Amino acid sequence: MNSLFLFSTIIDFPTNSPYNTNTMILSSQDTESIPDRLVTPEIEETEIDMDINLRPQTLFDFVGQEKIKEPLSISIEAAKGRNEAMEHVLLYGNPGLGKTTLASIIASEMGVKIKTTAGPALERVGDLAAILTNLGRGDILFIDEIHRMNKTIEEVLYSAMEDYALDLIVGKGPAARTLRMPLERFTLIGATTKMNLLSGPLRDRFGHVYHLEFYEPEDMEKIVHRNARLLEVTIEDEAANLIAGRARRTPRIANRLLKRVRDYAEVKHDGTISIEAATKALTMLLIDEHGLDEVDRKILKTIINAFKGGPVGLNTLAAATAEEMETIETIYEPYLIQIGMLERTPRGRKATARAQEHFNTIAQAQSALL
Ligand code: ADP
Repeated sequence: MNSLFLFSTIIDFPTNSPYNTNTMILSSQDTESIPDRLVTPEIEETEIDMDINLRPQTLFDFVGQEKIKEPLSISIEAAKGRNEAMEHVLLYGNPGLGKTTLASIIASEMGVKIKTTAGPALERVGDLAAILTNLGRGDILFIDEIHRMNKTIEEVLYSAMEDYALDLIVGKGPAARTLRMPLERFTLIGATTKMNLLSGPLRDRFGHVYHLEFYEPEDMEKIVHRNARLLEVTIEDEAANLIAGRARRTPRIANRLLKRVRDYAEVKHDGTISIEAATKALTMLLIDEHGLDEVDRKILKTIINAFKGGPVGLNTLAAATAEEMETIETIYEPYLIQIGMLERTPRGRKATARAQEHFNTIAQAQSALL
């Protein structure tokens, strides 16, 4: 392979990628694994426009995450003051908490361009090389799901991040030689939901590492109010509080619930999201006050009723609920554990006293209605 061939290969690659390199579009392969669930924190294909429209544009508009915002704004100001690219930034946290939003805010606050891609989209070195060589001084490359990048790409990224150069091997066998291509000083922003899957050498190359946490209830409420304003719908404080409380402390879920409640209020009421409209809509959508949906409740109820509260092995639980083991483990369990309703023990899964209480309250409310 000669260098000319190498360059033509580089230029061709990104168009074959399942991700558009400017705006990330999930490939069908990725979205197939996402269940059609109201309370899933992952983005659904139909929500890409909603996400973009409701995305805060400045750090000022970005609600909550105070521990991140101040150091971040200082780094942005300092880099701008020195007229330098910002150091590389790693953002980690659950889906839907604002990693992509923060990356685009950093770009707009720095006044630079941003290219967006994702770990699984970078299949060949040429994919990465084409993107990097097109970045201008100070521009940002955002790699979502950076833990899903393959090893070869990751190694090429090391010299790009550290020396602002691309080390490419040209040719094969004894004729092979290394070609070093200089790059503009750029900022890599990596996002990951699984910090433990990131290799040490990659993690060490980020100057800033920020952990996005689940949102505080008052911040969730602010987000619901803000987004209702953007959607031009009137919402009562109590209704905003209700939606915020059922959104699993995740802005993306709050946005989704807000839209569904708005539809309900428009069709069944006068369009205002009153507490009455919100309560009825969320009851219809089967989301309870802890943000649990039907499957969450089925899992907990099965442990409580069929296995006397547990412990019960994951495979037995999967068979009893007719859900896949992996789906229980990766999709449902984390939130149930986080809110203290489920415990993982060496002997299996256990429903906690809190879960028991929750179902007792539901049962009491139901019998009061009879
Ligand atoms: P992630 O990349 O972590 O999956 P996103 O950045 O795509 O999450 O955020 C999902 C949506 O949630 C955004 O479109 C935005 O509307 C909303 N959002 C996230 N964080 C905030 C925040 N701090 N303030 C207001 N809205 C937010």
